[in-house]
Amino acid sequence: MNCIFCKIIAGEIPSYKVYEDEDTLAFLDINPVHPGHTLVVPKKHYANIEEADEATLCQVIKTVKKVGLSLKNKLGASGYNVQVNNDPASGQLVPHLHFHLVPRMADDGLKLWPQRAYQPGQAEEVMKKIKIN
Ligand code: AMP
Ligand code: ZN
Repeated sequence: MNCIFCKIIAGEIPSYKVYEDEDTLAFLDINPVHPGHTLVVPKKHYANIEEADEATLCQVIKTVKKVGLSLKNKLGASGYNVQVNNDPASGQLVPHLHFHLVPRMADDGLKLWPQRAYQPGQAEEVMKKIKIN
């Protein structure tokens, strides 16, 4: 498969590995939002969250927690953002599930996405559409 992250996992393309275990790999994003921006991937190829099985998702989030602790304890990050661009419409460029961890410092100036208030009645309408069970 012509997947850049599968090639990194297979060792065919170099990466700056931060953590590795049987099921997951964490490596530096080559174009970081801030230095230390790390990607956590399952070693098995899944395109997105829905494709991945629960056991794999659990392994990935455990690695996210480990890397997050390292960003705080060793890099001195005050916090970090965890983001998954899930499917191309959300900005996913590499079609291998990955969690971005972006270390944050107080007052680092990074602005996240804009938000706005619901119109009257709109929140209930949307909630009814997406409510599960
Ligand atoms: P996304 O838009 O969520 O699919 O993000 C893909 C990320 O992969 C981007 O932030 C890229 O900078 C990063 N990336 C692409 N190629 C490499 C690579 N060879 N090594 C490390 N990170 C990469
Ligand atoms: Zn892949």
